[in-house]
Amino acid sequence: MTGRETTVAILARHARLNRHGTPIRCQPGAEELRERREHVTARVGRERPGADWKVIYDSRAEAEAAAAEFAAAGHRFRPYPCARSRSGHYHLTTEPVAGHREAGRPAPGKER
Ligand SMILES: [Zn+2]
Repeated sequence: MTGRETTVAILARHARLNRHGTPIRCQPGAEELRERREHVTARVGRERPGADWKVIYDSRAEAEAAAAEFAAAGHRFRPYPCARSRSGHYHLTTEPVAGHREAGRPAPGKER
């Protein structure tokens, strides 16, 4: 399988899917979207709203299972609970995983 096919297969197994079988992505609220657009525009000089909307995992167990499969494919991801979520869903981040991370110091540029 190609890398993309691998990713699609892993997402199909673990991510929250819509009725077409497409992974559902976390969407910011209007207020957050506005702040983010301003932030991104200030940083890169052009608008790119929502470029990093992330696939939703319904539970930590699903997020960890997906991370394990990505790790087997050579991609290092770390599950984290979504701060935006009321229902308690999870995402994966490419931030350095434990062992490469400085304890007690949040990674730069992360979402609040
Ligand atoms: Zn989320």
